[in-house]
Formats: sequence, C-alpha cells, structure tokens
Amino acid sequence: MFKINENYLKLPGSYLFSTIAKKVNAFTAANPDKEIIRLGIGDVTLPLCPKVIDALHSSVDEMADAKTFHGYAPDLGYEFLRNAIVEHDYQKRGAEIYADEIFVSDGAKSDSGNIGDIFSVDNKIAVCDPVYPVYVDTNAMAGRTGEYLVDQQKWSNVIYMPCTAETDFAPELPTETPDIIYLCFPNNPTGSTITKDELQRWVDYANKVGAVIIYDAAYEAYISEENVPHTIYECEGARTCAIELKSFSKNAGFTGTRLGYTVIPRDLKCGDVTLHHLWARRHGTKFNGAPYIIQRAGEAVFSEEGQKQTGEQIAYYMNNAKTILEGLKSAGYTVSGGVNAPYI
Ligand SMILES: *Cc1c(COP(=O)(O)O)cnc(C)c1O
Repeated sequence: MFKINENYLKLPGSYLFSTIAKKVNAFTAANPDKEIIRLGIGDVTLPLCPKVIDALHSSVDEMADAKTFHGYAPDLGYEFLRNAIVEHDYQKRGAEIYADEIFVSDGAKSDSGNIGDIFSVDNKIAVCDPVYPVYVDTNAMAGRTGEYLVDQQKWSNVIYMPCTAETDFAPELPTETPDIIYLCFPNNPTGSTITKDELQRWVDYANKVGAVIIYDAAYEAYISEENVPHTIYECEGARTCAIELKSFSKNAGFTGTRLGYTVIPRDLKCGDVTLHHLWARRHGTKFNGAPYIIQRAGEAVFSEEGQKQTGEQIAYYMNNAKTILEGLKSAGYTVSGGVNAPYI
C-alpha cells in the first residue's frame, strides 16, 4: 500500500492571494455599487519590452532551421546568459562571482522551493515575519518545520524573526541559532531593505555559527538608495555562507515567460562537500534546462536597450507606488515602503 507525504496535510489551507480574492468577493457582494481598485494582484501588468520581444522572435526563427536549431539546453544554462549575468549583476558591483557558479532556472519560486533538496531534514530554518510564504511552506512539505499551531498561525520548529514598524521592518539577529537563514531584500511584502553594513553583520554571523543564508534578491532592480546592497556578494565572506536567488519576473516582466537563476559559490562547503556539487547534481537530474528562446530573451534584458526599456518599466511601477503611498497617506493611513521596492 502506497503512502503519501503527510507533511502536505499539515499545511494551512489558504494562500495570501486566495484570501485577498475571498475578501474582495465578499466586499463586492455587499457593495455592488462600489468601484474597486485592486492593489494586491501579485503580478506585473506591463508587457515584455520591445528588445525582449525582438530576441524572442529571432530565436524562434533559429529553432525553425536545422542549422541553428537548439535541442536540450545545457543543464546549468547557456554560456551567453551566464556570462551576461556575471558581468552585469556581479562584476559591475565588485562582487566576485564566476559564470560557472550561476545555475539558470525557470524562476526563483522553483529554486527557493527546490533548494531544500540538498539539505538534511534536520536543519532549523529562520525566516523574516512577514515574508514571501514559499520558504516556510516548502520546508513544511519537507518535514522541517514541526507542527502547525493554528491559534498562533506559526510552525513549532521555525525561528521567526519579527519585522515590525519598530525595527523599520528589518529583522534582528536571532537569539536561537538557526542552520538555514532565509533573507529577502528588498522584502516581499514590506518593501524594506537593510544597508550593506547591516547585511555584513548577517554574513559574519552565518560564518561564525556555521549557518547558510538563502538570499532572495528578486526585487534587486528596484533599489534606489545608495547604501543598499544589490547582491549579498558585495559583503566580505559571503562566498562561504550564502546562496543567492534571482528572477527576471519583477525587473523585466517574465512572470509568464519564466526565467531565473541561483548562485552557489564554489567556496560554500559543508565539511569538504561543496553545495555547488550537490545542486549541480540536483539541477542536472531533476531540471530540463530553461528553453533556448527564453535564455535569449533573458540575455536581451542585459543589453543597453533592454536595460533602458526595463528601467522605464521599473520607473512606471515605482511611480504607481508613489501615487498609492501618497493617496493612502492623505487618506490618513500610516504607510511605508515604495522606496526600494514597489510594495506599500
Ligand atoms: C515573485 C517572487 C519570487 C518568484 O519569482 P519567479 O522567478 O517568478 O518564480 C521569488 N521571491 C520573491 C521575493 C518574489 O517576490
């Protein structure tokens, strides 16, 4: 008789967006004459920029010709994209990351959910509260989070790091030592960031206690303040304690197109085993590679025109955020965000 993974049964029912939908539906039913401005749709709204569309068209044409057709993509991604990522996202920032440390994928949600495959069930995770729910839910599926405490809406075996208005929505170093620390800056959903000096404290802490940081930088392109790091590898010592997740979803509108990547430096080790080796095995075995045409589209984001066009999209979202922030403020609400992320 087969058995299921019973960890799935412990998961609480509803996800944020379905909760929002329920509330909106209830409000609409009670107030049929009211017009609704939806602020919680959880997606981009602008189409892919022209430079990306051009790259898609021309790579589709390549697929139609035996001389330029591409079959299975290399497990870890095409060189042209990994080189563009390294040059643009790391070298320019003075961060020491190499092309063979980039694992191209179908996005940061899959990577943040799957990265747990290379870690033992006996790891205690620490997460910011609130944060993107995928980290906790996927650890729950793996059986790492203990029991769900319905009254507290928390798991018994997770270290929660509260991010409240009192601390400017930033976490403090935990008092109990975690094994795996999830950090997400700019944060979804608070929009908060921490300075490079503050992030350096987390890197030093992780190296000291032997923890690994999983750093989600999905909103990196929205950073506007000078002293906010764009990648954790701007910090000294991050090569020995940090994995970074990136996505083309929020900076270039790839939510339906699907492209992201994970960075695992070769210096990140558990004893003498490199995590790079484990993730390469996992990626090569369970992932078919991102499609050639999508990787060409991603490369186009890094071109001069691509940067200009996606930069205009980011400016558009940030301007919307500003309008919402000012509107809510003038309506008497206490609001924050909208500086390094489009979140209010
Ligand atoms: C949207 C989002 C993701 C998921 O990105 P995809 O590449 O679309 O899977 C991951 N992390 C955070 C914080 C996000 O907001």
